[in-house]
Amino acid sequence: MRAVRAWSAAQPMKATAHVVGAGLAGLSAALALLEAGWHVILWESARQAGGRCRSYHDPKLGCQIDNGNHLVLSGNRSVAAYLARAGASDALVAAPAAHFPFVDLASAERWTVRINDGPIPWWPLCPARRPAGVGARAFLSALPLLWAGPDQTIAEAVQPGGLAASRFWEPMSLAVMNLPPSLASAQLMAATAREAWRDGRLCRPMFAPRGLGPALIAPALDALQRAGAELRFAAQVKGLVAEGGRVTALHVAGETVPLAPGDTLVLAVPPARLNALWPAAQAPEEASSILNAHFRLPQAVAGPPLLGVTGARTQWIFVKSEVVSLTISAAGFVEGTDAEEEALLTLLWAETVAALGLAEDVRPVAARLVHERRATFLQTPANVRRRARPLTGLANLVLAGDHIDTGLPATIEGAVRSGETAARLLGKPSAEAGAASGSAR
Ligand SMILES: Cc1cc2nc3c(=O)[nH]c(=O)nc-3n(C[C@H](O)[C@H](O)[C@H](O)COP(=O)(O)OP(=O)(O)OC[C@H]3O[C@@H](n4cnc5c(N)ncnc54)[C@H](O)[C@@H]3O)c2cc1C
Repeated sequence: MRAVRAWSAAQPMKATAHVVGAGLAGLSAALALLEAGWHVILWESARQAGGRCRSYHDPKLGCQIDNGNHLVLSGNRSVAAYLARAGASDALVAAPAAHFPFVDLASAERWTVRINDGPIPWWPLCPARRPAGVGARAFLSALPLLWAGPDQTIAEAVQPGGLAASRFWEPMSLAVMNLPPSLASAQLMAATAREAWRDGRLCRPMFAPRGLGPALIAPALDALQRAGAELRFAAQVKGLVAEGGRVTALHVAGETVPLAPGDTLVLAVPPARLNALWPAAQAPEEASSILNAHFRLPQAVAGPPLLGVTGARTQWIFVKSEVVSLTISAAGFVEGTDAEEEALLTLLWAETVAALGLAEDVRPVAARLVHERRATFLQTPANVRRRARPLTGLANLVLAGDHIDTGLPATIEGAVRSGETAARLLGKPSAEAGAASGSAR
């Protein structure tokens, strides 16, 4: 994958691909469309790009944070291609091995899941590589996940019991599907298992040392700008005009923007926005939330960059120098997460102290809860069936976004893949279309 080249003013006018939404799906589509030879205009309703994956300065904490912790794996091939297009292949740093340390706060047991490198996943056969107290049989009996039917949940496909449920399937389901195993689609979970978990080389955690925005968003914006794309922030697309089987105009903040005959449109917006703009999509709007607690400490703390937690409300702890961030996925299904902010922060800090083994007198200087109520669509088998396809009934309209039917869960990889797919489906602009588009602008 080569980085997108700078656009030279001497080149002839090209047909325009309009992309609506500057989240990862829209940015991915925009980069791939530029590479395919389109002129790109990116419309974003917010004042910044990144959507559900963004960094910002938090005044209460007095530092930059990510809206939520995000885990990317080394086998996320579309993310790798996206970063290559943005000229930022080194923006994410892989852990040296696919090792995932855990602590169970109910029993104080600690263990590390160690996924072996290589094409044959033999790690479940070694006690030292499995969760404490979980036998090899529990993993072998989970094989039906790989050929689960579209109506099955993870719990129905795997039928996990005992510690295998609480120490493996539940953490994995919450992390990947943002739902407990009793609700999450088994087929989507299996897709991730096939793409990443089967080989330790593919499921090393990837970290963004300076945050998600600097790693995943800023390089794409820079590459787009360098290559001549037009970035329009605070520009909400409010409606489409469709005539003769194609989109002919966009309504943007009181303005009508015409689309020339060869121009195309990618809608890369979340389900509710998509349904408002293109009701035929009927995208599933039910959502699952994610709660993140961010603690700023007086000084950097020692600890693994990523720690799984069971037997507690906290599910994952990310240690980023003097900021410790906790994730509670599917927060709507976790008892007590609707408690008053101060009470919840106190409880989560106590879990952090126990999990990281901090001294009792270590106190955060500031703390913040960020509750993303619509973090992902509710990935039940019924909603997965309702995912919209990227192609629409209109010749020049293609859909992208983590909720579009990519065969993957609603994740960064899924969002980026959807953008790549949208660009591939639109192909290259035709020369005549370019002339028409040029004369229209
Ligand atoms: C707290 C949290 C934690 C997560 N953790 C992980 C994780 O660990 N690993 C992982 O892989 N994924 C994780 N995810 C999921 C991941 O963030 C999303 O799958 C991904 O960011 C979705 O990207 P998107 O482009 O599809 O949508 P979005 O990011 O929602 O982007 C859509 C964009 O469209 C814009 N928009 C909407 N309507 C309009 C309009 N009418 N006109 C113009 N612009 C419009 C929005 O402002 C937004 O910027 C997490 C999500 C959250 C919220």
